[in-house]
Amino acid sequence: MAPKPRCLVIGAQFSGSFCARELKSQFFVTVVDAKEYFEYTPGVLRAFVKPAHLDSLTFTLQPVLERKMGVKYIWGEVKELNGEKKTASIKTMSFKTVDEIGFDYCIICSGCNFGPFKPMGESLWFPTIHEEGRAVSDWKHIDERFLEGRRRHVLEEYHKLQDLNKRKATILVVGAGFIGVEWATELEHFFPDLKLTIIDFLPKCLGPLPDSAATYCSEYMNACGIKEFYNCGYEPKNPDFWKKVELPNGADETYVCIGVKASNYFMPKCTLSDKGPGGGGWIHMNKHLQVTKKPSEGGGVWADGTIFAVGDCNYGCIGEPGKWELPPVPKISYPGEEQAFHACKNVMKLQRGGSNASKNLISTWWPWGAGMFATSLGPHDACFVLGANETKGSGYMVNWWIPAALQKEIIEKTKVDECRDRWLGVLIWHFVHHTPVNLVGRGPWCV
Ligand SMILES: Cc1cc2nc3c(=O)[nH]c(=O)nc-3n(C[C@H](O)[C@H](O)[C@H](O)COP(=O)(O)OP(=O)(O)OC[C@H]3O[C@@H](n4cnc5c(N)ncnc54)[C@H](O)[C@@H]3O)c2cc1C
Repeated sequence: MAPKPRCLVIGAQFSGSFCARELKSQFFVTVVDAKEYFEYTPGVLRAFVKPAHLDSLTFTLQPVLERKMGVKYIWGEVKELNGEKKTASIKTMSFKTVDEIGFDYCIICSGCNFGPFKPMGESLWFPTIHEEGRAVSDWKHIDERFLEGRRRHVLEEYHKLQDLNKRKATILVVGAGFIGVEWATELEHFFPDLKLTIIDFLPKCLGPLPDSAATYCSEYMNACGIKEFYNCGYEPKNPDFWKKVELPNGADETYVCIGVKASNYFMPKCTLSDKGPGGGGWIHMNKHLQVTKKPSEGGGVWADGTIFAVGDCNYGCIGEPGKWELPPVPKISYPGEEQAFHACKNVMKLQRGGSNASKNLISTWWPWGAGMFATSLGPHDACFVLGANETKGSGYMVNWWIPAALQKEIIEKTKVDECRDRWLGVLIWHFVHHTPVNLVGRGPWCV
């Protein structure tokens, strides 16, 4: 019997663990991740204000991937992907030198960073794991590739917040998108003596989401004393800015909660975008999710079409404004997993072969779930938007208050359970992406 083909998956969070589960029966799957643990990113804000929560958001990858799922796990950072030789150079935790491993297929699920103002995109919201990032880190004394390192960082920030709370300090949250709103309201609930201000350069909070949801969040923040300033850009060096936000002496602490920054350092420049959020660096892909060269390099398929990029790491759109082949897909977990599903289907199609294999690949689409946003307002309130798309103000607020907070909690518990490869989470979430027919959204009726 011929040996199974080898598939390398880079990244072991939402889209990476999805690929591993999907492909493990037909491929020798190797998952490589630069950190030793899974962390449920959407819940991490709570961990900084209630450190005990970190345990319910994290688990170590090796026992889950190797013993439960039955795939190979490498704890190391991919430093280079060679499309011609089909090899990845990996700096593992155990060696200073770089290992080279070969693959037949590769799915890149390496996510992104969330600190657009930092040279390497560092933020509290995502552990600092890349060699390039660690070299210029604000928390060099902590190694967040270890779960214990992440725990120490969470505790350090928690103690800092306790001190600020004792001093009744002023806090500025920059950016009133869903992350900024969640962070301000978590701080208000767990540290009630902080004096909180939130700003955004847009005219309302929650960016492009519908007015009903923005109004709901604004009313909540207003009721609990969080000052809001809109149509207000962040100009920390301008004294007039501080007067405008009623903090003439500046803020004791500022948290930047805007935007994303690419971290695809291991990819050749010819595949990375010149433009895009955080200054570009996103992996170009075609409608089959195969990595392509950037348009100025011809835009053709990179390598031999067996390398795919899904989730937060890719450019997220195909075409240009007014002529979209795929309009910008939000960098959230549902579309990342949906893309992982499409890429896995295409890997299987290529492997099955046949003369038309590369012509019969499925095309990805803007998934309906990319329009779902659950924004928490502290632990006991939230709002849930459904049906948003690339049009500003689209979507409907369909759930709010305690039921929405419960919904967000159930999503968190069951998603972590699924990523941990436990039966309940897998059962609950399996049919979300494995739908035999698509009744809503922009996908074909049947894949
Ligand atoms: C504060 C916050 C709140 C959020 N809330 C929500 C929410 O409520 N709902 C929602 O849907 N989304 C939310 N998101 C977005 C969501 O977390 C991301 O869209 C999702 O994590 C993307 O999944 P991914 O698998 O593409 O990448 P990631 O989850 O970023 O995973 C990438 C993995 O790749 C690994 N990696 C990266 N580079 C390398 C390398 N060179 N070598 C080896 N491994 C590497 C990383 O260690 C990581 O494990 C939130 C994000 C933030 C920051």
